[in-house]
Amino acid sequence: MAKVTDRRILVTGGAGFIGSALVRHLVANTGAYVVDVDKLTYAGNLDSLGPAREHAQHLFHRVDITDAPALRKVFEEEKPTAVIHLAAESHVDRSIDGPEAFVRTNVTGTFTLLAEAARYWRSLPKDDAARFRFLHISTDEVYGALGAEGRFTEESPYRPNSPYSASKAASDHLVRAWVHTYGFPALITNCSNNYGPCQFPEKLIPLNILKAQAREPMPVYGKGENVRDWLHVDDHVAAMLLVLAQGRIGETYLVGGGSEKRNIEVVEMIADLVDELSPGGERSAVSGARSAVSGERSAVSGERSAVSGARSAVSGARSAVSRRHLITFVPDRPGHDQRYAIDSTKLRTELGWKPVHTFESGLRETVAWYLANRTWWERVRSGAYRGERLGLVAGEARK
Ligand code: NAD
Repeated sequence: MAKVTDRRILVTGGAGFIGSALVRHLVANTGAYVVDVDKLTYAGNLDSLGPAREHAQHLFHRVDITDAPALRKVFEEEKPTAVIHLAAESHVDRSIDGPEAFVRTNVTGTFTLLAEAARYWRSLPKDDAARFRFLHISTDEVYGALGAEGRFTEESPYRPNSPYSASKAASDHLVRAWVHTYGFPALITNCSNNYGPCQFPEKLIPLNILKAQAREPMPVYGKGENVRDWLHVDDHVAAMLLVLAQGRIGETYLVGGGSEKRNIEVVEMIADLVDELSPGGERSAVSGARSAVSGERSAVSGERSAVSGARSAVSGARSAVSRRHLITFVPDRPGHDQRYAIDSTKLRTELGWKPVHTFESGLRETVAWYLANRTWWERVRSGAYRGERLGLVAGEARK
């Protein structure tokens, strides 16, 4: 199999969080030519590409993956040697509010992409067809929720619980069917929660970094006891390229960071890191203390808030007001999966992958990135999404 540097890689969703990290890496560190296909929904942002955006190894096509003629044109003109499929509607809360878009992009879009990719693959000369690969990027959420013990493996049964995970499960099944029915050379990766730069600030980590720096209430669902297995986006990019280059056709590989954390732990770490890296923040000591004390539902006891408020009033120093007091428990997401955790043994033993980022160092870098890149997040936030609460079913929203 050819090395990635010999390749023309069609990346769908290349303007999103993970896709942009992949494109930046391919352009900066390999000789691969990247054909970037993205609809530019609210979650797609060409700013995230950085220097790759105008690079000679990168060509952008604004295309919806449900648009078969547009995809066909891209395949015929660009002649990719591989596809890495990331384009998706990806936010669980949005899938609760509006599942149709998830079925359209994640199911119909994946079907359309598979059909066009397979059509193109059949047209290739024998050697090129033998080298062609289609890597489908999916999520561990297709396996449902774990209790306190155990981890997902490639053999875990599919048990999706949200419209998002159900639509991703459907897309995985389509890919599997194309392999088995048509001999299409596809592979699947299912990964855990990613974090890192350029993630749209509606997800737990970037949302809470921005809330913390603005000294606004930091929302945590339920009691913050849900557990996620955090994976740095650059470790995920390395895994994807390894699976693309060396993975076995028709196989699934699970990718997990091996960093299980309760949501409350993650948000407390963010509060502490923002305290350390941006002690002043955006508001005055007085307003900061006030928002910490009067937040709708403080994460800490009223006594501790009161003590903290009094302490800050005495000191008058902004840095004395810990952001932990901004943590605010909000009604849980309907059907919120309790725990995800991944066993990456297959990827580690078969292909030699292992994550290089610890969650502690990766989160520190990520917080620093958001604090230093205000222009990026102000621009993405100026779109339709403005930090409002999504994903409450109608009855919940009224409570
Ligand atoms: P994202 O929401 O940040 O980006 C998705 C990208 O897809 C955006 O650029 C958007 O414009 C594009 N897109 C959406 N609909 C499209 C359409 N119809 N046609 C073309 N482009 C379209 O998502 P992400 O977090 O980067 O996730 C990428 C992939 O990885 C998704 O398939 C997701 O299911 C999967 N995944 C993500 C995570 C995570 O933690 N972020 C975890 C597991 C799996």
